[in-house]
Amino acid sequence: MNVYEKLLRDNKAWAAAQIQKDPEYFERLVHLQAPEILWIGCSDSRVPANQITGTEPGEIFVHRNVANLVVNTDVNLLAVLDFAVTYLKVKHVIVCGHYGCGGIKAAATNIDHKPVLNMWLRNIKDVMRHYRRELENIPDEGERNDRLVELNVQEQVYNLAKTTIIQRCWLREQRPDLHGWVYRLRDGIIKPVFEMNVGTPIDPLYKYEKL
Ligand SMILES: [Zn+2]
Repeated sequence: MNVYEKLLRDNKAWAAAQIQKDPEYFERLVHLQAPEILWIGCSDSRVPANQITGTEPGEIFVHRNVANLVVNTDVNLLAVLDFAVTYLKVKHVIVCGHYGCGGIKAAATNIDHKPVLNMWLRNIKDVMRHYRRELENIPDEGERNDRLVELNVQEQVYNLAKTTIIQRCWLREQRPDLHGWVYRLRDGIIKPVFEMNVGTPIDPLYKYEKL
């Protein structure tokens, strides 16, 4: 059996098991999508949002990309953010990175990963430049990359706060709080590393008027 055929077979088994546990399971979900959380995570197959947080379908709205970046020209991410914040009215946005992130490790080298990946990873190099002094003081490469994972999450949370989507919602509806988390592959534990609650002051350079 092919890998993809196994997925289809297991899907049937899963659906049947869900109905056995709770006959109205699917019927309820059809009529309701009211997640309170938007999750922006890494595409890494070892960091699935629902499993690692013990949540069920319907509880978390999810966007994932390589190294959990919030890029201000990324229409995909911005559409997800706008929909989650403006229409689903989420109360929290979580950016969750993970130690041992391949995207972070790749960005920390000088290897040419060819145009498209170089473009994407460049955003992480900008984080490195911003925190160059702190990072250069960490001699161990593994520890340095771990710290870069944390700083990257912090910067992506800050990038969220730079958007008018978040600024308008903070002003008018006093939500959502922004959280930066890092997941440890080694033991499955999530460490909160950065937080920007509603109204946290940001550099005036990025503040918009008359929202
Ligand atoms: Zn990753």
